[in-house]
Amino acid sequence: MATIKVKDKDFEISIDASAIDAAVQKMAVEINRDYEGRNPLFLAILNGSFVFAADLIRKITIPCQISFVKLSSYSGTASTENIKELIGLNEDIKGRHLIIVEDIVDTGLTLDKFLQDLKKFEPASVKLACFTFKKEAFKKSFRIDYLGITIPNDFVVGYGLDYDGYGRNLPDIYKIVSS
Ligand code: 5GP
Repeated sequence: MATIKVKDKDFEISIDASAIDAAVQKMAVEINRDYEGRNPLFLAILNGSFVFAADLIRKITIPCQISFVKLSSYSGTASTENIKELIGLNEDIKGRHLIIVEDIVDTGLTLDKFLQDLKKFEPASVKLACFTFKKEAFKKSFRIDYLGITIPNDFVVGYGLDYDGYGRNLPDIYKIVSS
């Protein structure tokens, strides 16, 4: 199989753009059906989800809004674990029906913390739309309400996902070629 180089590593195709489009379309159909009359607010988590969010939102046919947040990394003083803190939430989300838009769930640690943080803003409801899910790596128990594609536990790039900042522009998703 043909490989591509991203920075200094080789990758091979895993999910092509047409399969991505079909999966996004399926998610949008479900969301359009479930959120009719509920004026949802999509909250996309930057950076990785910007491509998926742009595709998903253009397939949403009901009235909705979208906003973007970021999770900044910092090292907690009492723990060696990398804790990520929510920044950039400018919207008033109290009483809103939120749909979190995420590109990938791996261990789930990042989103788990994010979901806890969101609770204090008292949204009416929170659901998750995740494009890719590494089921074998998942360590948490939250539910992914709208899921694009379950993938093996390989490092992937493309469709917004990066390797050291590179590869986000690729329209397909590629997995690393193990050496
Ligand atoms: P978590 O393990 O907390 O679910 O995932 C943390 C973050 O690691 C994700 O939001 C994503 O930014 C990054 N990540 C996890 N797996 C991959 C991967 O295969 N490729 C890329 N590019 N990023 C990943």
